[in-house]
Amino acid sequence: MLRIQFNIEQIEISVKLAHNFDIVIIGGGILGTSISYFMSFLNKSKNIAVIEQAPDVAFHTSGRNTGKVHAPYLYNPEKKKLFARAAFHGYDMWEEYAKLHNLPFKKDGVIEVALDKKGTTVLEKYLKWGKQNGLDDKDIEIIDKFEMKKREPEIKCEAALYVHRDGSADYSVFTKHIMKDSKSEGTKFLIDTRVTGIKKENDMWKITLNGEHEVFAKFLINAAGGEAVDIAHNAGVAKNFTDVHFRGEYWKAPEEYRNLTKTSVYSVPEFPDYPFLDPHWIIRVDGSCEIGPNAVPVFSPYGYNKIENIKEFIPKMLEMLGSGARKAILDKQFQELAINEIRSSMSKSTMIERVKRFLPRIEADKITQKGTAGIRSSVIDEDGKFVPDVIFVDGDASFHVLNYNSPGATGALPISAHIVNHLIKTGMVASKNSNDQCGIWKFSKIIEKIEK
Ligand SMILES: Cc1cc2nc3c(=O)[nH]c(=O)nc-3n(C[C@H](O)[C@H](O)[C@H](O)COP(=O)(O)OP(=O)(O)OC[C@H]3O[C@@H](n4cnc5c(N)ncnc54)[C@H](O)[C@@H]3O)c2cc1C
Repeated sequence: MLRIQFNIEQIEISVKLAHNFDIVIIGGGILGTSISYFMSFLNKSKNIAVIEQAPDVAFHTSGRNTGKVHAPYLYNPEKKKLFARAAFHGYDMWEEYAKLHNLPFKKDGVIEVALDKKGTTVLEKYLKWGKQNGLDDKDIEIIDKFEMKKREPEIKCEAALYVHRDGSADYSVFTKHIMKDSKSEGTKFLIDTRVTGIKKENDMWKITLNGEHEVFAKFLINAAGGEAVDIAHNAGVAKNFTDVHFRGEYWKAPEEYRNLTKTSVYSVPEFPDYPFLDPHWIIRVDGSCEIGPNAVPVFSPYGYNKIENIKEFIPKMLEMLGSGARKAILDKQFQELAINEIRSSMSKSTMIERVKRFLPRIEADKITQKGTAGIRSSVIDEDGKFVPDVIFVDGDASFHVLNYNSPGATGALPISAHIVNHLIKTGMVASKNSNDQCGIWKFSKIIEKIEK
């Protein structure tokens, strides 16, 4: 069913601008909204629109995640340099932004536990990566099980990485505030408006909205999260990629577990090449505790429930079997891991057991309330391999961001600045060139830090 709800503001915009925009950004998640923020300060024209199908920005993954402002210790500085730098500087930027606008942000750290000797070796690698990615001695340390007993008596482990420069936030609140700033600089947000078609016509993108209205844009930015691959295909690019969606589910812990630990606890991932991490013990920015997420394969980027998954099952299966994803889903190890995740979705105690390994006091019977699930879309190449990093694709009068996964929310501001810089440098969008102040940040300073 097509939604044709336009609010007064949108109708006013359409009339004023005769349906023409210089730049259209598809997707009002944290990424599209942050890109619009920098674009609105730096672009010569203010004729920019963000199009979001949901009733608000950050309605999907950006508002349904773990809410951690991640320190960059999990990322190989050689292979994931951009993401690591974005996480490092993203932390400072969100902290600064939250302080200025009085938004929730807590520097509460994170503990990554190793349950055996093999895991301890991985922690040593993470310590090295963390330091190479900019963390100081005071930000990150390895502690043994005896020290852990003193600091967090409930945690059982062989050793742990204690990361002090890690935080908690509410990315939905951040995205809404960034939208407000972007709007003040002239960006139009067309909310409740779905892009149902894109077509290049006479050097302009003809963009169909909600199946019936049309707007035109000189340049298109695809920040559509779980639909980014489909939109890229429609624009004629990234045909060698497909994606698989995973639903991350959470369980809310009862009040009595609030003080079980002072810090969130993650465990060393056993299969880092697959998008399956073991569920964590999470302390959210408001102090509430949750367990999650798992990573259950689903058939839609909005596959929160059975109805949506049944509806999308056949088209998604056909798409996957006709692409590189075929190899991935026929891979034995992937199947075993996926079955494990499905089990942990069907059985609460299976999921809780995974956290009980390092927090034995938790009892599944006491946990009764589900949290809000979020979906990640992992891109697979033609060889059936999960792509580890974000993918940027320059198209004809278009730019596409695929595979924008964790720590995507942490790094959204610096990555967006990097994208806008790329578009200006390559002449794809025109810059004002005079003053590069973007709110509280100087654009050139962000670029210096992330691209040095
Ligand atoms: C379970 C889970 C936990 C995570 N935890 C963390 C964490 O703790 N810290 C961290 O830094 N990162 C975390 N991440 C990653 C982070 O949430 C994502 O990288 C980030 O939110 C992606 O932002 P986005 O804007 O690209 O995507 P989205 O938030 O999905 O936004 C894309 C938007 O595009 C819109 N859209 C798509 N197609 C159309 C269309 N045709 N027309 C109009 N609109 C369209 C969608 O409605 C959506 O709102 C987590 C992710 C998951 C799944």
